[in-house]
Amino acid sequence: MKINELLAKKRTLSFEVFPPKRDGAEVEDLLRTIDTLRELSPDFISVTYGAGGTNSGRAAEISGYIKQAGMEPLAHLTGGPSTPAEIDRVARHLRELGVENVLALRGDRPVDFTRPYCEHFAHATDLATYLAPYGFTLGCACYPEGHSESETLYRDLENMKKKEECGATFFITQIFYDNAYYYRLVQEARRIGITSPIIPGIMPLCNPKNIRRIQSMCGSTVPLDFRNMIEVYAENPAIMEEIGISYAVYQIMDLVAKGAPGIHLYTMNQARTAVTICERLSHLFHDFF
Ligand code: FAD
Repeated sequence: MKINELLAKKRTLSFEVFPPKRDGAEVEDLLRTIDTLRELSPDFISVTYGAGGTNSGRAAEISGYIKQAGMEPLAHLTGGPSTPAEIDRVARHLRELGVENVLALRGDRPVDFTRPYCEHFAHATDLATYLAPYGFTLGCACYPEGHSESETLYRDLENMKKKEECGATFFITQIFYDNAYYYRLVQEARRIGITSPIIPGIMPLCNPKNIRRIQSMCGSTVPLDFRNMIEVYAENPAIMEEIGISYAVYQIMDLVAKGAPGIHLYTMNQARTAVTICERLSHLFHDFF
């Protein structure tokens, strides 16, 4: 099922998983996570792709597993580390596995990457254009607080528009903890003529150690109230989990009330948090999705 067609019919619930670095027990754990996520009836599950192009086979196999299990996979693909031949190989493999939807990305150069980066695909737009003959339904990433390399949000929005012109038919946002950034992004995107659905990406923040990582990797602002709670309860994992889940529940209820076209949950391969959120929001997901 094409994700843009799904979005035209209904609000979507989706999850994101990442392929483990090694084969064996970690992959088995992930497959069990995917089996648990299936019980939550997601509209699709996205599978990330290594920024260095590593794990491409494993990522494709996991997308294939999701398809076999009767769900819709969204395979991420990063152009930055890749040659056209590598993209062709992965795209053909995904097609053979029945994958219809791809999130076209650039990726960030890993520190240990020795080959030139972005040699063939400088931006997600180049990858989206290159993938056109494969007939995937394409999505791209977008950034409620602006991408870190963009001087202004408005420059980033112009590039978001280019992504749509190059074939993206939906967007998934970077993590954010202040919904006001999402509403501003949607409003400004519509103002400059971007029409595709913009799905908010939510990551429950249950581990205080992740705050700095999220801020440095994603540039996401953590609001003061939320930070204060985290500082007070940082040493108590059970309370931290309640805070992280409650905050995500609050964000989701507000986003749905204001018309978000779907919710994308960054699960970090942990089904438990996703299950708890879905249980807490069972009426909302039943009535509004
Ligand atoms: P781009 O779209 O190329 O944007 C990068 C910068 O270039 C921005 O400042 C943008 O404004 C600018 N720009 C964009 N297009 C043009 C253009 N045509 N001309 C000039 N400037 C342009 N990383 C991974 O490695 N693997 C993943 O699976 C993965 N999944 C992600 C999923 C989501 C939903 C998000 C939000 C991010 C994901 N990332 C992933 C991280 C992503 O690779 C980084 O955020 C990266 O820095 C930018 O990727 P992009 O596709 O947005 O790049």
